Amino acid sequence: MENCIFCKIIKKEIPSKFLYEDDLVVAFADVNPIAPVHILIIPKEHIESITHLPKNEKGARIAGRLISVARDLAEENKLAADGYKLLFRVGRDGGQEVPHIHLHLIGGTKLCEDIHPC
Ligand code: AMP
Ligand code: ZN
Repeated sequence: MENCIFCKIIKKEIPSKFLYEDDLVVAFADVNPIAPVHILIIPKEHIESITHLPKNEKGARIAGRLISVARDLAEENKLAADGYKLLFRVGRDGGQEVPHIHLHLIGGTKLCEDIHPC
């Protein structure tokens, strides 16, 4: 997608240091971290949101990979013992700002809830 900021990161048109890359997903640091560890894990394919994830084997593989890579990065960053937060925002009411699926891995400090209606 031409104007998608995360597609530009994947194509290296915007500089970013990949913390992980495989055939399906990449991970990089959030530019505006809200905690000591704040990483985004995204599919290489432009998929707007979890709503748009294909309802087939490929969609399931992407979803599973996003989560297992987040788990591995949490371990790498020594977050597993104390815990961490994984967050998908979805669409307008979910507060999603970038329309390319991204899983937030947030940790390294105690995190308050952010799920209250606003
Ligand atoms: P969301 O509100 O769930 O859509 O989250 C979008 C996230 O993308 C925010 O946490 C932003 O800080 C992050 N973000 C936006 N642009 C960039 C960028 N160029 N590199 C890294 N993270 C970004
Ligand atoms: Zn995209």
